[in-house]
Amino acid sequence: APGPGSAVDVAVIGGGQAGLAAGYFLRRTGADFVILDDRERPGGSWSDYWDSLRLFSPAAHSPLPGWWMPDQDGEEFPTADHVARYLTAYEQRYALPVRRPVRVTGVRRTAGALEVAGDAGTWRARSVISATGTWRAPVVPHLPGRAEFTGRQLHTASYRRPEEFAGQRVVVVGGGNSAAQILAEVSEVAETTWVTRRPPRFMPDDVDGRALFDIATRRERDRRAGGPGTGAVAALGDIVMVPSVREVRERGVLKAEPMFARLTRDGVAWSDGSAQPCDAVVWCTGFRPVLDHLAPLGLPDADGRVATEGTRSVAEPRLHLLGYGDWTGGASATLIGAGRTAKTAVAEITASLREGADGAD
Ligand code: FAD
Repeated sequence: APGPGSAVDVAVIGGGQAGLAAGYFLRRTGADFVILDDRERPGGSWSDYWDSLRLFSPAAHSPLPGWWMPDQDGEEFPTADHVARYLTAYEQRYALPVRRPVRVTGVRRTAGALEVAGDAGTWRARSVISATGTWRAPVVPHLPGRAEFTGRQLHTASYRRPEEFAGQRVVVVGGGNSAAQILAEVSEVAETTWVTRRPPRFMPDDVDGRALFDIATRRERDRRAGGPGTGAVAALGDIVMVPSVREVRERGVLKAEPMFARLTRDGVAWSDGSAQPCDAVVWCTGFRPVLDHLAPLGLPDADGRVATEGTRSVAEPRLHLLGYGDWTGGASATLIGAGRTAKTAVAEITASLREGADGAD
């Protein structure tokens, strides 16, 4: 992989599935490129997900371009560990030029190129793909009393397994899949209270990743054909009824309280004066895109947004964003969607590089 001080056609920031999918298509164009990733090992954030996590879909529904994810012995829905191993093997299979660990700290405009500065040096690139995911930017709501609470607070991003909460009183906050799944397993060993901002919206029991994938595909097809693209996955609910969540419902523990107003020294308190003492609060309150390295480009804007056309930044057309969610391409934040959006982005970049080269002749 090109080292610090090199000039490349494309620098990809982030070596998770989105960055690797971009690498797969870049490799086929013959472009000079480098993928910069801040981790010691391959696999992107999959190696940080909690121990019991399973994919929503079987391996065959979660391929990156070119090479399907192998089935995992004895598991219909692969573990996060299996996905990390798949990404590791994928990177090797296509000999993708990844340099790690390199943390990119800033992307700047310089004469005729973008300069990508990291803790291991600087690369000059004609185009940049940002594919840094969301895992490194956990969101915790600002609530009074957070500093006063003497118990433990942690975010989904640092949760690994339930055992460390054995015998404790735990408040789980959030109305999404991570909250429901973490609640399910922590409630087996601890006394739990589940708190959500809105009443939780459960999907029908028979909807798993396969059904979600089919719905998203139909919707995209309809949208491309000029239709309204209705039948969104979100209309079905927020929480997928995986086996552990169904099981916790049967135990009667899947009941949410409204959001509390503040934390106290020893627990949480609602505005009506009621309170719940607890030993730990688990914030399953989501993530935002990791975009700090784009600040020298004046991105994101004051509202925290990057305007895009497809995956391309409107303000800086040499920059593409991959994998952050639907605003960077439909289903781009899924294994199956990563390839589709990477393909379009690389085609646009290749066309621009060619135009640039023709212009220079
Ligand atoms: P990441 O995997 O986060 O990769 C980004 C990489 O960039 C990381 O290695 C990161 O450390 C690195 N990086 C960040 N900042 C910098 C920087 N400044 N410089 C250099 N490197 C940097 N999708 C599915 O399709 N099916 C599922 O079942 C599914 N389950 C999920 C369950 C959970 C709990 C979560 C959180 C997500 C799930 N997803 C699922 C969604 C998505 O597929 C994953 O989040 C996936 O890891 C996103 O890949 P990515 O490449 O965009 O980001």
